[in-house]
Amino acid sequence: MASGQEEQPDRRGPQQHGFVVARPFGIPVHVSPYWFVIAGVFIVIYANNLSALSRDLRYVVAAAFVVLLYVSVLCHELSHSLVARGFGLPVRRILLYPLGGVSEIEREAPTPGRQFLVAAAGPALSLALAVAGWGLAQVAPYGVTGALIRQLMFANFVVAAFNLLPGLPLDGGQMLRAVIWKVTGRPNAATIAAAWVGRALAVGLLVIPFFTGGLAGGNFVSGLWVIVIAAFMWTGATQSIKATRFRERLPALQARRLARRAISVPASTPLAEAVRQADEAGARAIVVVDHGGAPIGIVNEASVIATPEQRRPWVDAGSMARTIEPNMILSADLQGMALLDAIKRAPASEYLLVEPSGEVVGVLAARDLDQVFAGV
Ligand SMILES: [Zn+2]
Repeated sequence: MASGQEEQPDRRGPQQHGFVVARPFGIPVHVSPYWFVIAGVFIVIYANNLSALSRDLRYVVAAAFVVLLYVSVLCHELSHSLVARGFGLPVRRILLYPLGGVSEIEREAPTPGRQFLVAAAGPALSLALAVAGWGLAQVAPYGVTGALIRQLMFANFVVAAFNLLPGLPLDGGQMLRAVIWKVTGRPNAATIAAAWVGRALAVGLLVIPFFTGGLAGGNFVSGLWVIVIAAFMWTGATQSIKATRFRERLPALQARRLARRAISVPASTPLAEAVRQADEAGARAIVVVDHGGAPIGIVNEASVIATPEQRRPWVDAGSMARTIEPNMILSADLQGMALLDAIKRAPASEYLLVEPSGEVVGVLAARDLDQVFAGV
């Protein structure tokens, strides 16, 4: 139940994910088709544990439990979402997974205090549901209803406690991050620290039951649960680290700074001669121009490298060039996400960088962009 802020800034917009089952407060709640299968499996497993009840009643009670459990999870997510919206942060949707949910909040809270409150809102609500369940159990302690209330109380308490573990991607990790952010003033460093705690918790989750004998007795199912949850936490923490490294590198992404100096040659120039001219000029790109001197193609670096030295005098530069399409011409002023978006629109290995006046600045190689993100 991560209050998932948009972790991966380069995500290609909202993908379709199952279907919308409800719109509480205008927030669409998405459920994946396999969620129904898993919910069905949970109902069957739970019903089998209710052998004291009649066959029909068993399934009714089990279905009520599973549905109310997911309603509890939905309330937890709504709590994150409504607090976020109260701070003016747009909420795209809530996703319900078999193992929990995510509130997709489109922007990060501008201050650590607000981030803390958005993250704390979920577990606080789960805790409130647990307390309400406890109160109800005092009023109706007997029979099937009493048992159902007690189980929901316990489940909500577990949801609150688990999510308060202080590592990303859990809510407690978001809260820890907010505290470190507040203390150090460095939101990115705070994410990395909280994510490493998340990784440590994931490893701990696997290792501690192993040493304390918690997995002994051949309880295969609970062992599987632990592995699934640990894997979820590890990948979530890793994603946070990657997204942060990505954000940290974004300012270095400036088309003008990455521009390769280019020379211009007519298409009929032998490749060997074009390469010689480029070397002489200290250029790392070759632009093919028409008779009027206007750029029409960019020589593909990979094709040049793949052409043996002795062949180069016999092929002309034009045959190694990719025709410049309108969306391969980019402004040298592009930077950050805007530059990435422009490249996503027109995938190519080389782009022509121009001034607003149309004057050619140089060539941008997609390879050089990858270098900026190397190791992310
Ligand atoms: Zn949560």
